Formats: sequence, C-alpha cells, structure tokens
Amino acid sequence: MKKRILFIATGGTIASEVTELGLKPGISAEGLLRAVPAIERLCSVECVQLYSLDSTDIGPEHWLGMARAIRENYDAYDGFVITHGTDTMAYSAAALSYLVQGSVKPIIFTGAQKPIGFDTTDSRVNLLDSFICACASDMHGVMIVFNGRVILGTRAEKTHSKSFDAFSSINYPHIADLRDGRLTQYIVPQFAWEPRFSDTLNERVSLMKLIPGADRAQLDFLLERSDAVVIESFGVGGLPRGMHESVHAAAKAGKLIVMTTQVQNEGSDLAVYGTGRPLSEDPLILEAYDMTTEAAVTKLMWLLPIAESQEKAAQLFYTPVNRDLLAR
Ligand code: ASP
Repeated sequence: MKKRILFIATGGTIASEVTELGLKPGISAEGLLRAVPAIERLCSVECVQLYSLDSTDIGPEHWLGMARAIRENYDAYDGFVITHGTDTMAYSAAALSYLVQGSVKPIIFTGAQKPIGFDTTDSRVNLLDSFICACASDMHGVMIVFNGRVILGTRAEKTHSKSFDAFSSINYPHIADLRDGRLTQYIVPQFAWEPRFSDTLNERVSLMKLIPGADRAQLDFLLERSDAVVIESFGVGGLPRGMHESVHAAAKAGKLIVMTTQVQNEGSDLAVYGTGRPLSEDPLILEAYDMTTEAAVTKLMWLLPIAESQEKAAQLFYTPVNRDLLAR
C-alpha cells in the first residue's frame, strides 16, 4: 500500500514567481506537486498551504504553527514534507526538532535555490528526494533534504547563498545521500515510539556576534532585554576583559547565557584560554560545544517555558535532542 504523506507548504524560493518587486512566493502546494508527477506515483499526498512566505518572515509563531499542523495530523500520515525558504530553514528545522521530539515518522524540510518554474532549477529534484525520504522506513524525526543530502534538523546551516549546495551538516555527518532517486542511508536517526510535542516558545532569546572592540553596552542592552543570550565569541571561546563582569552578573540574576563560537566547524572549548576559563568554571554559564547557533537559539526558546530553575534549564540544554550535542 502507498504511504500517506502530508505536504505542508510555507513558501520560499521553491514556490516563488518573478514579480516587479522581486521573487515572491505564489505557487501553491498543488502547483508544486503538479510540476513533479513522479511524487504522486510514489505515495498518496494531501496538501496543506500553511503559509506563503519568504522565510525571512518566518519566526517562532510559524514554528508553532508547523508543529501544530504535524501534531493534528500525526496519526493520519506516515510522514511529512515541509517546503520552506532556505534563508531560515536551518532555524525552522532546529526549532521543529525541539517542538516535535522523537518522532518515528519522518518530518522533512526542503526548498530550493531556484524557483520551480525556472528552466534551471533544483526544485524538482529536491522535492522528489524529500518524498522519497518521507516514504523510507529508516528515516525518523526532523531533517533537511537538499542537493542530494540528508542532514539532521539540528545540524544544518546555510553555507552557500547562491549555489545548489546550500546546506552543510555541521560537526556531524550527513546521514544519507540521494542520487538519481536512490537513497543511500548511513545513519539511522534516534526516535521514540511516542513523539513528545511542545506548544510554547519563549521568544526573548537574543544572539550577539562579537567583533573586536565590541561595545559592552550592546551586550548589557541584550542581557537586560532578554531571558537568554547566545554569545558567538571567537575561536574556541572567550570574552574580552570588559565583558566578564556583565555575563557573570546576568547569570547570577537568572539570565541564561550560552557561550558559542562564530567559527563554523569544531565547536567551542571555553576552558582552553584565560579569556574563557572563568566562564567555563561558572556553573551558571552554559556552553554550546559542538551545537550549531541555530540549535542553541531554538533550544533555549523551547526550554525556557518548561524549566522551573536555572539548574533544570542547564540539564535540559545539555540533554541531547536529535543528536544536537555530542561532545561535552
Ligand atoms: N529568500 C528565500 C527564502 O528564504 C530564499 C530561498 O528560499 O532560497 O524564502
């Protein structure tokens, strides 16, 4: 019997058309499906047009909307395909990894660098590959399927702004390849038989990327306005002299601080240098290690509403979800 897949469309380049104001999403989920007839031969598909947005306009409320659409339809389908703009897809895939944990059913994000109506496009192959993965028996949980690769939802980052090879899997191997419709899977994602759904996010999370000579007042502003701040420092991690006091005081006052690195590969190790060691020794300051910034930010949004203490928040932050954190 054919698998039943729910196709959730949210917009993005894949569904975009040329307008006088630049590319804008305008093609419906049904229109995307019509462009790839092989999909309906492979599985039985029903469509939900959840949004029609450039992903620059997608945020936490839309992540909750996507999680709700999956939850409401979970029992009726064998898998889910979500089309989405590439610009913030890594954030959405990370957020969904926390909002829908342990799903035995595949939840596949995909999109394209060129619209489906263009002569040269990656849309059709990405869409077909995504449905192939959504029908596969060993694919579980949230992932991105793009340019012939399958990347866990917590491990993706957009690393090319124009070429078809838009996403990389950071600090973790991609779990499968697709070539000419053939899936070669190396790693089976973790799952539980009963998924755990969450329906709240705390949006008061900010990100500060340090530059040499960064103004401490900017950090203080973010610390004051947020419940959690992710700081992307340099190299394996550390803070310039003037900023230590601010973060220790904010952590003591109950803010969650996560130190990470702006270097894409290999993660942080705060204990190495004198600029980081005092932070690594403060139990109230968290470290992202090999997690992506996208995962760290969305994990904080997910855990803030459910953690009743800073200790509990730290415990949740360091508990791996969808293999977001390996090396601690
Ligand atoms: N700006 C587009 C978006 O993120 C880019 C894309 O989809 O590739 O919606």
